[in-house]
Amino acid sequence: MIPTPLIRPVKNKYMAYLLRKVVHLTFPEQYFTQFMGKQINPCDEAAYVLTFDFDFEKDIAAFPLLLDMLKKHDIKAGFAVIGKFVEKYPDIHKRAVAEGHEIINHTYTHPDNPHWAPDRFFNKLSYAEQKAEVEQAHEAIEKILGVESIGFRTPHYGNLHTESVYPILAELGYKYSSSTAACGYKGYGAPSLHSHGITEIPTGCSLHFPLAIFDSWNMLRKSNPFLGDDLLFIEEFEATIKVIREHDLFLTHYFDPYDIVENNKLEKILQSLTEHQIMTILYKDLV
Ligand SMILES: [Zn+2]
Repeated sequence: MIPTPLIRPVKNKYMAYLLRKVVHLTFPEQYFTQFMGKQINPCDEAAYVLTFDFDFEKDIAAFPLLLDMLKKHDIKAGFAVIGKFVEKYPDIHKRAVAEGHEIINHTYTHPDNPHWAPDRFFNKLSYAEQKAEVEQAHEAIEKILGVESIGFRTPHYGNLHTESVYPILAELGYKYSSSTAACGYKGYGAPSLHSHGITEIPTGCSLHFPLAIFDSWNMLRKSNPFLGDDLLFIEEFEATIKVIREHDLFLTHYFDPYDIVENNKLEKILQSLTEHQIMTILYKDLV
């Protein structure tokens, strides 16, 4: 058993870094099971929410293939989309809605997107500018796709996430945000009420890296990635899903579309969810 004081989200950056190093090198599986075991699973059984962030043109290019795969496996997902892309590529976004996927507001320009918002950072914007980013995306989604978004995700999560977004979301009638990391958040990987009536649904980790976000950036792309290999990435996903099943846990991940369709990774992830009979749901069904 790992001592209880260690199994809780750590805010101090240096302490969090140290703990991550030690845990990942020593007892990651036990940590994962104990940490996630403290969550209140909103579903009665193992449940998983699959989400994607469409940040770049290359993500839009992967969109049709991604939709085909989800359709083949009959799995619905959440798509964090930016208003500018909804305006530029309405048809593919409309197809996503028609096929039953959930649209998550990911701001209008996705600061610091190189096309429209270079050198702008969400947490550095004024309250009015942040509000305009959320509001304009909301309007584009509503006008073009005919759906009212109730969920938000901060561009780039963690470092660029800011508490000031919660009153903005509440004002606009939003129900949830999914902008934090499971390892740094009080919900232990499950949804929990944050502030201003907004539920925060933290993005999840994996069995051998419980103190990192399990995404293609951390696992494969950044310099010195945790895994650095597509096969290991799939193995890690599988191992995690097995434990989720065994312990009836709640887990959610996000992936970059262009990255996850490459080398059949998404196909294998979807197969794994089906094989292990994991219930897949949408954020909007949770809140
Ligand atoms: Zn993004």
